[in-house]
Amino acid sequence: MNEELALFRDNVRKFIAAEITPFEEEWDAQQFVDRALWTKAGAAGLLCTDVAEEYGGAGGSFAHEAVILQEQARAGNTSWAKGVHEIVTHYIVGCGTPEQKRRWLPKLVSGEWVGAIAMTEPGTGSDLQAVRTRAERKGETYVVNGAKTFISNGHHCGLLIIVCKTNPAEGAKGVSLLVVEEPTEHPGFRCGRLLHKIGQKGQDTAELFFDDLQVPAENLLGGQEGQGFYHLMNQLPRERLIIGLGAIAAAEAALEHALAYVRERKAFGKRLLEFQNTRFRLAERHTELTIGKVFIDHCIQRMLDGQLDAATASMAKWWGTQKQCEIVDECLQFFGGYGYMLEYPIARMYADARVQKIYGGTNEIMKELIARTLE
Ligand SMILES: Cc1cc2nc3c(=O)[nH]c(=O)nc-3n(C[C@H](O)[C@H](O)[C@H](O)COP(=O)(O)OP(=O)(O)OC[C@H]3O[C@@H](n4cnc5c(N)ncnc54)[C@H](O)[C@@H]3O)c2cc1C
Repeated sequence: MNEELALFRDNVRKFIAAEITPFEEEWDAQQFVDRALWTKAGAAGLLCTDVAEEYGGAGGSFAHEAVILQEQARAGNTSWAKGVHEIVTHYIVGCGTPEQKRRWLPKLVSGEWVGAIAMTEPGTGSDLQAVRTRAERKGETYVVNGAKTFISNGHHCGLLIIVCKTNPAEGAKGVSLLVVEEPTEHPGFRCGRLLHKIGQKGQDTAELFFDDLQVPAENLLGGQEGQGFYHLMNQLPRERLIIGLGAIAAAEAALEHALAYVRERKAFGKRLLEFQNTRFRLAERHTELTIGKVFIDHCIQRMLDGQLDAATASMAKWWGTQKQCEIVDECLQFFGGYGYMLEYPIARMYADARVQKIYGGTNEIMKELIARTLE
């Protein structure tokens, strides 16, 4: 943190209070945020803050992105899948050809396009090498057939990265990333159901279907077939840190809500905060969060230095989300029955937290990645 980032945080907080918080219930009901949120955020300089100015970005750093993600978590905002948009943007930044960057980045920066990435399929999630979506090259076009599920921003996406097999005879080496511009304009693309979830209800999570979807060969990310897995390995640490840092920020927010409650609520003639059980549990959670924040800061610094490795990012993801779920659950308990009522933010935080241990690579897969470095 520094003075500039602190000012930036103030602006982000104001933006969220004005443009997001008042609409959360409406967005939960419709299962997606208003499309205009993306262009408003783009105009306010809150999209792709770490993209170079030559592509329309603010030329900031991952620290700016971290501030926005922390503020979203602080406000209990999960409907706006900005993190996914940023992850997609960085596939283009990190793996795109100079021409692809010029063509795609400005529209992601402005919010004219919303980014989505389709890895998961009905038959496979963790085992990405087993994806069956097939992209067959026919002249200057790839013809794509297959289905994806659980795709965040699937409903609004203007730029979609599809993880597909260009060579089904190969495992990881047969995987490529294809970019589809304005998917809904293509007859071979169909966005299916918006999926009903136990939490994060305002975030669009969709099924996608490709039926002879025609994608120009020049949209192969990086311009070389068979590089998909390599690109994924390069970009997944960013995704994992984004989830881990949001998790610790959300747990911190839960603790603040709990503290405010136990300071006021009385039972047996005293405030809940005066019971030793409450005090000890709060002290333990506060300790864990302090440790968590120090570790996340360390990871953010490594990301800024271009040195965040896959195992460390996996630690941030699994430990951060595990702690988030434990801490939110324990904080909810202090609220008694009110903690189970959706009008209390802690209830929503509880439902929103659960998926964090599942997406972005399950926590079991994170532990596998860490264990591999110990062999
Ligand atoms: C709300 C939401 C949003 C999502 N957004 C996206 C998105 O934008 N894009 C996208 O591509 N995907 C997205 N996903 C999908 C998500 O990444 C997958 O659900 C996740 O990777 C797990 O895949 P799966 O559901 O197929 O479970 P599976 O891979 O079938 O796993 C089932 C269980 O088996 C365990 N398991 C699997 N392999 C191993 C192993 N080797 N060792 C130990 N245990 C193992 C898993 O940990 C898990 O507990 C989203 C999911 C949700 C719920």
